[in-house]
Amino acid sequence: MRRAPCSLACENGQMPRRSRRDYAKYKEAARALAHARLAHFNQAYGFAIGRVAIRNQKTRWGSCSKRGNLNFSYRIALLPPVLADYVIVHELCHLGEFNHSPAFWALVARACPDHRALRRALRG
Ligand SMILES: [Zn+2]
Repeated sequence: MRRAPCSLACENGQMPRRSRRDYAKYKEAARALAHARLAHFNQAYGFAIGRVAIRNQKTRWGSCSKRGNLNFSYRIALLPPVLADYVIVHELCHLGEFNHSPAFWALVARACPDHRALRRALRG
């Protein structure tokens, strides 16, 4: 498996914590959220999305692979919707630009014009 060049890291480790029992509940909520918002934003982008997986990632909100598979932490279900959308748009845009170049950020800005502020907010 190839290493994803992107990891939306939570740098200060302040991701919300939940019990194991809650995990299943939030995982399903995160899956529904990711699929719904990917479908919504991809109407504009039109990328080929691979598999979408929800994981118990403690240090990353999301990541993507060269094969077009997207991974999200179940904790996106616990984010304010605008921040969850930013995580989803960020990973979706890696299907167009597999890097963090100006071209990548221009793609992100189409759906999230205030992505800089959103990224700061994610870091806490
Ligand atoms: Zn990225």
